[in-house]
Amino acid sequence: MSSTAAPTEHPTGAPVVQLGVPLVGGSHHRASAGTAGLDASDAGRSERFSQVRTGELGSLHSWELVTAVDGPGTRMTTFLSGCPLRCLYCHNPDTMEMRRGEPIEAEELLARIARYKKIFDVTGGGITISGGEPLMQPAFVARILRGAKELGIHTAIDTSGYLGAHCTDEMLEDVDLVLLDVKSGDPETYKRVTGQALQPTLDFGRRLAAHGIEIWIRFVLVPGLTDDPANVEAVAEFAASLPTVSRLEVLPFHQMGRDKWETLGMKYELDDTPAPSLELVERVRGQFRAKGLTVF
Ligand code: SF4
Repeated sequence: MSSTAAPTEHPTGAPVVQLGVPLVGGSHHRASAGTAGLDASDAGRSERFSQVRTGELGSLHSWELVTAVDGPGTRMTTFLSGCPLRCLYCHNPDTMEMRRGEPIEAEELLARIARYKKIFDVTGGGITISGGEPLMQPAFVARILRGAKELGIHTAIDTSGYLGAHCTDEMLEDVDLVLLDVKSGDPETYKRVTGQALQPTLDFGRRLAAHGIEIWIRFVLVPGLTDDPANVEAVAEFAASLPTVSRLEVLPFHQMGRDKWETLGMKYELDDTPAPSLELVERVRGQFRAKGLTVF
């Protein structure tokens, strides 16, 4: 997911209705994929593998209703478990590992989504699939997207794009909006921030634009980490090169996720990092505006 956004506390202060399933507790483990996190399912092991492969079963961290964030209108944002990145500022390190999620069947999640259709219709909203990284569970996400479109519901995914190759062209047909988290424009800075390479994000952004899919780019501004003018400029140039980018969101870093790192026994490296000053936020917003981008 984006960023500093949180299942329980939204950085914009937007109204949040917490509907989440309870978290599975436990100490910190290395990231895992496959059916880890689905151990609580009644289904047998081989059946679980089969259900995960076909997208019938996913691993869910939590979900919430939000307004005016994560896409237009009122959104049901679902936070899936599992993420291949290790962003230093991650607000929700408890979503990094799939094992911390709760198993949920696609049909059950779709039934919950359907209950909010009237609200989506009235507000121009829809669903946003976030995480963690939703593309860790591409078959499950594909099912949810398809099911939502069959219900006539607007769809968005919130992704770093790092696993963009997991997103098939067929899936893209069911996506109305992508919230693309571009964590840095300089490859070395990106690596320092996330532990991974920048290129897949750039490739995915270009692919989305080629498919004519609307993109909102999100950039987390962290003093001393992502604020270098050249780093910001590279994000701005990339965003401006994509004709379907309709919005650029600058998300100021904050310390609200710090305690979770400690609780999970994970080393948090940004203890001494302050929130960006208003002047810094304005400077960075100005860099994006100068490229003709609509900045929020
Ligand atoms: S580590 Fe994953 S969930 Fe956390 S901010 Fe980065 S991309 Fe989002």
